[in-house]
Amino acid sequence: MLDENEIEETPIVTNWFNNKTPDEFKQAQLDDPIISQILTWKKSPEKPKWPEISHLSQHHKTYWSQWERLTVVEGILYRKWENTTTNDINLQYVLPCADRNRVLLLLHNDQLGGHLGFKRTIARIRHRFYWAGYNTSFVERWCKRCTECQKRNQPSHHTRGQMKSYIVGEPMERVSLDILGPVTRTYKGNKYVIVVTDYFTRYAEAYGVPDIEAQTVADKLLEEFICRYGLPVQIHTDQGSQFTSDLFIQMCKKLNIDKTRNSPFHPQSSGLVERLNRTIEDMISKFVPKHQKDWDQYLPYLMMAYRSSVHETLGETPCFMMMGREVRLPEGPKVKFKVVHVNRLKPFQGNMKRWYQPVGEPAQNTRFQVRNKLDREQTDHD
Ligand SMILES: [Zn+2]
Repeated sequence: MLDENEIEETPIVTNWFNNKTPDEFKQAQLDDPIISQILTWKKSPEKPKWPEISHLSQHHKTYWSQWERLTVVEGILYRKWENTTTNDINLQYVLPCADRNRVLLLLHNDQLGGHLGFKRTIARIRHRFYWAGYNTSFVERWCKRCTECQKRNQPSHHTRGQMKSYIVGEPMERVSLDILGPVTRTYKGNKYVIVVTDYFTRYAEAYGVPDIEAQTVADKLLEEFICRYGLPVQIHTDQGSQFTSDLFIQMCKKLNIDKTRNSPFHPQSSGLVERLNRTIEDMISKFVPKHQKDWDQYLPYLMMAYRSSVHETLGETPCFMMMGREVRLPEGPKVKFKVVHVNRLKPFQGNMKRWYQPVGEPAQNTRFQVRNKLDREQTDHD
């Protein structure tokens, strides 16, 4: 099936989708032996009887069993999929076999893909594509065999601190500020990464900076984060000197931000931040070797990938949590998707309500599970 070298050597073309015309999407399906068969079936009003298809492949049968969900729009085969986040019915383009590698390269390996794990990669595919068996072997194997991911996912043997759970009730109530690096200096002179994360929504921004002087950190935080998202009630940092400096403390005071920090005796108290930064750090370190001198150019794309992917603990994307809507990503096919709104009149307000409601409880439950998991891991390593 997939050859590792093939994955690495295939050129990555970000605008692949946008360069395709509806006719090409149609033709690609007609060139696929299974999909063209389904298209032929869908032309007739009757679903084929079982005896007519029983001798065919498992994939034929998978499509056949979803007869009602398959629909042909302007000659192109789609599957209806209800997005439980937005309650919209989306149309997934039924992806021909020949295009799967390319889609995986875009949604997993490319700078917009960010080498996210199996679950998140699947979630990104689901918003756009479908093919029989997509959620089982193919994608999982792709992620498992991805050399970048393998390199990064070696088990770490250092013990992790126990996670302390902070209950926060709304976006921007508590924001964490952290510094990664030093990493390879880029052409632009950046050597560190400042990561700002909102506890409630897990919305995160990362900025490449040349140094971590208090002035640099304060400027970035103010100009790039606070000016866009507003003032946080509380900022949590570690013990770094730039955070304990007079300048930083004065800035927080001036802006009326409550500043907390890790106690030197309990540096692990920001468990959430460490975990989150590990995800971001993972993503960054997979790219730095490939983009030694210009990783900062890719950083915004990585962060976009992170924010637009379903967060394991929340079951929502950080984007949705922060803004109440999903962002449109650049890799959607140019084909006009006909989105059928289940409730066209549903006001955005209602959406917001749903947006806030479910988060409290399930999030706390999962937080509890995460904590248990961390406790277990700790015991395992001890
Ligand atoms: Zn990967």
